[in-house]
Amino acid sequence: MPKIYLVDVTNRDGVQTAKLGLSKLEKTMINIYLNEMGVFQSEFGFPTTRHETNYLIANLELADMGVLKPIRLGGWIRAITEDVETTYRYVPNIKHLALSISTSDQMITGKFQGRKKRHDIIKEMTEAVDAALACGAESVAANAEDASRTDISYLIEFGLAAKEHGAIRMRYCDTLGYDNPFTIYNNARKLAEAVCLPIELHCHNDLGMAVANSIAGAMGVIDGGQDAYINTTINGIGERAGNADLIAVILAICKSKGFNEKYKFASDIKLKCASKIAKFASYAFDVPIPINQPGVGSNAFSHASGIHADGVLKDPGNYELYGYEELGRGDPEFVETGRQIITGEYSGISGFSHVMSKLKVPIEFPNREKADEILELARYANVESQRPLVEDQLVFIARYPEIARKLLTLTPLA
Ligand SMILES: [Zn+2]
Repeated sequence: MPKIYLVDVTNRDGVQTAKLGLSKLEKTMINIYLNEMGVFQSEFGFPTTRHETNYLIANLELADMGVLKPIRLGGWIRAITEDVETTYRYVPNIKHLALSISTSDQMITGKFQGRKKRHDIIKEMTEAVDAALACGAESVAANAEDASRTDISYLIEFGLAAKEHGAIRMRYCDTLGYDNPFTIYNNARKLAEAVCLPIELHCHNDLGMAVANSIAGAMGVIDGGQDAYINTTINGIGERAGNADLIAVILAICKSKGFNEKYKFASDIKLKCASKIAKFASYAFDVPIPINQPGVGSNAFSHASGIHADGVLKDPGNYELYGYEELGRGDPEFVETGRQIITGEYSGISGFSHVMSKLKVPIEFPNREKADEILELARYANVESQRPLVEDQLVFIARYPEIARKLLTLTPLA
């Protein structure tokens, strides 16, 4: 039976959201948390964007070191040969790529303005797939942007051409959130049956259906006999109204009526990590989690009205579909209400040593030189993020100073 895989795109679609962004260290922490959670792949960035180069190389090194393992790190570029060449010039060790090009008539007339026709799009995409494989890519996915507004017959042609040239997956992008669960089920199933490749579902939330569309699409792909890959972002952060929320997708797959009997994850997903990853993304993006967010919102397990409170006290199953412990919630949180010593971009050694000695697993430095080195890196990390580092970031810097140095090095073009 085909299975479901998660490809989280927070570090690609999430960070290209208007008004939002992440530092390279924050992006790295997200890769680490996704790996911990058991997510199959992180679309970790843009190999043709120069300020990403050191970050991408450093994260590939973390993969080689076994820190980011078994998660796959995939880059996103346009499906043109020029982008493939630029990718391998700057990030020669990248193994997994998503190559994206618009396929709808709307984009052909409205965006390409007649410069590209349907056959040009397939030609450019297949040339890019060939180039990526020739440069050493181990896996290439062909992304059909605006697939939901594309004729299904042309999408099938696109997918078959990608497959013939060695792509291992096709991404169906509901770029504008135009699909509904019924239309995406049909399209996804037809593609899976006709193209005979695993299909990725990339759903946006403009009509509030990103999560529903993702799981309906996955159902269609699996019923069509192929593995389904769902694109998510943490807290649903993404362009405009956002993408399919990672935690809500996991909950929908595991907890919705009967779904999990037939449609299952390929490997174990650790829902226990949900609270931590959602909180970190909220902090790093500086976007609060809505109180009614599935699973991780502050009201997700709150009851006030008489009937509900009474019912849940008698048996939580009366008014809760799943337990808060399953999402890693419920531990008391320590909030400092008195004096606070914090690391910042102008911190000194005394305050910094104090902070490091108060971590859950305290860090002592063997000598002053080492402490100064880690402090310097922590200062730079603060310059980049403009908010105090969380404990895991401080530990990361102390544990992998050479990687942190790379992440924090931004060298503009001359
Ligand atoms: Zn998108």
